[in-house]
Amino acid sequence: MTTEILKTDTLVVGAGQAGVAMSEHLTALKIPHLVIERNRIAGHWRSRRWDSLVANGPAWHDRFPNMTFTDVSPDGFAPKESVADYFEAYADSFNAPIRTGIDVRKVTRNEGRPGFTIETSDGVIEALRVVAATGPFQKPVIPPVIPQDIGLTQIHSADYHNPQQLPSGGVLVVGAGSSGVQIAEELCRAGKKVWLSVGAHDRPPRSYRQRDFCWWLGVLGQWDATTTQPGKEHVTIAVSGANGGYTIDFRKLANEGVNLVGVTRGFQEGVVSFADDLVQNIANGDASYLGMLRAADEYIARNGLDLPAEPEAHCILPDPPCMTDPQLRLDLAAEGITSIIWATGYATDFSWLQVDAFDEQGKPCHQRGISTEPGIYFLGLPWLSRRGSTFIWGVWHDAKYIADQIAIQRQYMTYHPATES
Ligand SMILES: Cc1cc2nc3c(=O)[nH]c(=O)nc-3n(C[C@H](O)[C@H](O)[C@H](O)COP(=O)(O)OP(=O)(O)OC[C@H]3O[C@@H](n4cnc5c(N)ncnc54)[C@H](O)[C@@H]3O)c2cc1C
Repeated sequence: MTTEILKTDTLVVGAGQAGVAMSEHLTALKIPHLVIERNRIAGHWRSRRWDSLVANGPAWHDRFPNMTFTDVSPDGFAPKESVADYFEAYADSFNAPIRTGIDVRKVTRNEGRPGFTIETSDGVIEALRVVAATGPFQKPVIPPVIPQDIGLTQIHSADYHNPQQLPSGGVLVVGAGSSGVQIAEELCRAGKKVWLSVGAHDRPPRSYRQRDFCWWLGVLGQWDATTTQPGKEHVTIAVSGANGGYTIDFRKLANEGVNLVGVTRGFQEGVVSFADDLVQNIANGDASYLGMLRAADEYIARNGLDLPAEPEAHCILPDPPCMTDPQLRLDLAAEGITSIIWATGYATDFSWLQVDAFDEQGKPCHQRGISTEPGIYFLGLPWLSRRGSTFIWGVWHDAKYIADQIAIQRQYMTYHPATES
């Protein structure tokens, strides 16, 4: 245990991609800082992703502007270990002052003097500013629908690694964002009987008219969108870079053997019940898909681009039986289901950040990451400044803005009245 108090200008908590980006921009502006990470750099890319996971966006897109991937071709999808290696190499490239294996336990504002006191597992740090770069996905969330003690294996997608980890028998996967659909498909291909509970989602085409959807979101200004349609803030995006990348198509998934059901609603005496919303959820996903094709077609026409038409992308397969006659109840024992995987997302955990920067619901109060508590900054949160804020490329730009704001505040602090001659 270190006894001396370490002092720095800016303390960054978390060395995932957000913390690394923050450190790069602070370094460029010569702002003294320290990054504290409880695990290892970009560790969540190693520990909280299943074995076969690859990035959802191609390597030319899902990266920081100042470095390319060396082990993945630009149009390829980086495996999770490559993504983690990339951020470790990135941090090395500018000697980021990152200390790993240290947990930040408590941050409080100093009384009667500027700055904050930070209690860590390795002693106390004082800093004038703190950037919470602990990411959008801190605590896996399992909704309290099915009791944990019913004798089945129940895990969150953060703890899913591969099909061999599960007992033999069928699997219910709850949640059909990128994680849920990819896990369901992997389990189905491994020979398991799979049910997939499908809620509200958007499903962009993987690519359309020779351009990946990441490109389309970029040129259509959708990554940079600063507001979303009301009610769509938390709508998940079903997309996959697995096996070279493909468009998520729920009807195709059903044809491959995955039983689609609606939102998981309740549980009684061994029977799970589902909302009667499967058809509507898939129709809404189709609408988002077709809307993107339309927007892309309009963009191509308006700009006179020479990109080949792709009429087959507009074809929607016939509804499979699980859609024409949706299953509303699932008797777990009768169907031989032995596991449930909750691909139901994450919550934030700012219990360590004991400052006046949260509303009554515990949500961070900020504008573009600048919090209501002077000196406290947030990075990596959903819609921090735009749709891209939680994604690799987006967080880099948000970090740049926050570093600029810190530099501005430091500038004010250097002010002295001009002395009269
Ligand atoms: C399954 C999955 C796939 C994804 N795929 C992509 C993709 O392909 N492309 C893309 O752009 N985005 C993707 N994302 C979104 C996003 O890029 C990742 O979630 C990314 O890990 C977020 O980075 P971050 O730095 O904000 O948070 P994290 O990577 O979660 O890093 C936060 C760090 O803070 C540390 N920490 C937390 N609390 C403390 C504390 N009190 N003290 C010290 N350290 C602390 C943690 O140990 C962690 O290392 C994906 C997300 C998930 C869940």
